[in-house]
Amino acid sequence: ARDAERSGIVVIGLGRFGSHLADSLIRQHHQVLAIDRDAAPVQRWSDQLDRVVQADATQEGVLRQLGLADMERAVVAIGDSVEASVLTVLALVELGVPQIWARATSNKHAKILSSVGAHHVIFPEQETGERVAHLIVSKMLDFVEFGDDFAIAKVLAPPSMTGRPLGELRPADRYGVRVVGVKLPNERYRYATDATVPVAGSMLIVEGSIDGVQRFAALS
Ligand code: ADP
Repeated sequence: ARDAERSGIVVIGLGRFGSHLADSLIRQHHQVLAIDRDAAPVQRWSDQLDRVVQADATQEGVLRQLGLADMERAVVAIGDSVEASVLTVLALVELGVPQIWARATSNKHAKILSSVGAHHVIFPEQETGERVAHLIVSKMLDFVEFGDDFAIAKVLAPPSMTGRPLGELRPADRYGVRVVGVKLPNERYRYATDATVPVAGSMLIVEGSIDGVQRFAALS
């Protein structure tokens, strides 16, 4: 039952965000039920998705008929209509879906979604905007922020961090960041140990404060 629960995910709204999300879930071998109000996206996705249904998701009765009361997870990916998004979340709450993820397109939208009972609110435009802003102005090649001023970044190994084992280079003492992964040129990522010797062209995965990883990246 656990696996069946895990694999059943409903994605509501097959716009740009919802369709990419559904596509990624399928690539991860989850069973996806997709719902959209319009015929065009339903037709477009009918080959790729196991089940695509044309329906108005704001109607609790319709969702019940589609079996949503028994599903473990739902994602409301409707973006531009705040009303449709909120009403859909309400219907899912009424049906008792245990994990409701909802997409917000503004801060107020996000607040409303939380207050009507969405368990997870995602704000892709804001999150991506913030992340890309960090990438553009720094030398980080990738960046994830976890809150409480903690982040992980991918950076090219700075010259001061090559040619000797990390145990001697001591990045934590010198720069306040910990190197957790290293990819030597033409190799795969490996866990970093004290014995790891980064060379020029190595990629490092570092963790620490946002400022810390940014300053470390600036050395590269
Ligand atoms: P994106 O920015 O990801 O393209 P949109 O808001 O443009 O997102 O698209 C959201 C999708 O949600 C559209 O395909 C739209 O038809 C669908 N949608 C909107 N309202 C409902 C509803 N009440 N029930 C089901 N699908 C809906």
